[in-house]
Amino acid sequence: MLRPALISALALTAVLSGCGGSGGQGEPAPKATSDPAVSTAAATDAPAAVPAAATLTARTVAPADADLLEIYRKLHAAPELSFEEAKTSALLAQQMQSMGFEVTTGLGEDWVKAKATKDVGKVLPGVGGYGVVAVLRNGDGPTVLIRTDMDALPVPEQTGVPFASTVRAETWTGVNSPVMHACGHDVHMTVWLGTARALVAQKSKWKGTLVMIAQPAEEIGLGAKAMIEDGLFSRFPKPDYNIAFHIAADVPSGSVAYASGWAMANVDSVDVTVHGRGGHGAYPQTAIDPILIGSHIVTALQSLVSRNVNPLDSAVVTVGSFKAGAKHNIIPDEATLLITVRSYDDKTRAMLLDGIRRIAKGQAEAFGAPEPDVSVEEDYTPATYNDPAMTAKVMGAIRKKLGDAYVDERPPVMGGEDFSNYARTAEKIPSVLFWVGGVAPDKYAEAKASGESLPSLHSSTFAPDYERAIPTGIDAMSTAVIALFKGGK
Ligand SMILES: [Zn+2]
Ligand SMILES: [Zn+2]
Repeated sequence: MLRPALISALALTAVLSGCGGSGGQGEPAPKATSDPAVSTAAATDAPAAVPAAATLTARTVAPADADLLEIYRKLHAAPELSFEEAKTSALLAQQMQSMGFEVTTGLGEDWVKAKATKDVGKVLPGVGGYGVVAVLRNGDGPTVLIRTDMDALPVPEQTGVPFASTVRAETWTGVNSPVMHACGHDVHMTVWLGTARALVAQKSKWKGTLVMIAQPAEEIGLGAKAMIEDGLFSRFPKPDYNIAFHIAADVPSGSVAYASGWAMANVDSVDVTVHGRGGHGAYPQTAIDPILIGSHIVTALQSLVSRNVNPLDSAVVTVGSFKAGAKHNIIPDEATLLITVRSYDDKTRAMLLDGIRRIAKGQAEAFGAPEPDVSVEEDYTPATYNDPAMTAKVMGAIRKKLGDAYVDERPPVMGGEDFSNYARTAEKIPSVLFWVGGVAPDKYAEAKASGESLPSLHSSTFAPDYERAIPTGIDAMSTAVIALFKGGK
């Protein structure tokens, strides 16, 4: 979904993980197969087109505090890449401390450094675990965790806003790139701070323990894991509920949207290396052509979804990269395929991954080639499941607050979000992630009338209507959390 206008941006359109709805993400991956960022990746791709069924209209929104909007613009102008969120996390930690939260920083440090050493061979300067946990105890009651993510993307900003980013940085895998908050995590952080303020101001209305976390590296699908592995649920009060939101590039600002049950997909990244035998293009009988074998694999993979998945279930197998050869008249030694695999159900996921291994092996054998290497990135992004009872509770409260016309229930999307990890531990904590509209109502109406696509998440031109999205997010999130506190454990 990424459609950067600059040539330099095309190099960034590789793969990645995480995140919300719309848009492919781009950890730069010029080396394709050998770049660990590629195999870690898993991207998101919700449609940016305005759903025909949408009936949401503009809502009157009271503005957020001027200094919060200033914080948003500051965060937007100074984006930091995954696992490099040093300044961002320090700003959030300082804000939470000033509100009276007990704040812990640096959560995930050991895990991140071990992962970098394993995948990249070394820990590049500035790379670390920047997770923040802020706890506020307010009497007996449930424990509610609110999560924001903090990282930006290797995308060159082209929004034209006065506070646009001009930052360049090196990714944790060592690729230099312009950086932009193209997924709206700056909106998430601002709403997170605003929600903390709102809940502190309304302390008399709720009882319980608030655990607010700022998570690094959502975009590469690893930040939640790093925080969990570093004792998020053992060193801090264990939540009864986890909640988060993502800005939506296809919902009008002032409104929210949600799915109950499955909301976002399992995101797997698979690398297949086909081994042939290189030779002269004019004497193919002396070679084993990995391009031909790879082509058969790509074609056969199409049968997995069409012939093996129950038509009432959903899945995607997309070959996003096929690389082989350098010249007209040389048959190369190998070909590599990079595949993204999406599913909801864990059994479907296992069937797809087994199927890819089986097809790759079978095709190679059919052509007399050695067995291909098939590697599935271990740290995949699991599907997001919105606990139906919790969803009913929080969305009921939000509906009451915003009004029925501004809350839209919608089908799940095939994007991924590593927020799902918080619900997948042994604690089995009910969790909900909802959408907060980010499109100015006039632009939304225009797109709806013309049928044109809006800029998706991860687009270099995605500029959310933050002045309406931020107060709406704060309103929705604080309402949801108070409803959870009132509802008990
Ligand atoms: Zn995101
Ligand atoms: Zn994203």
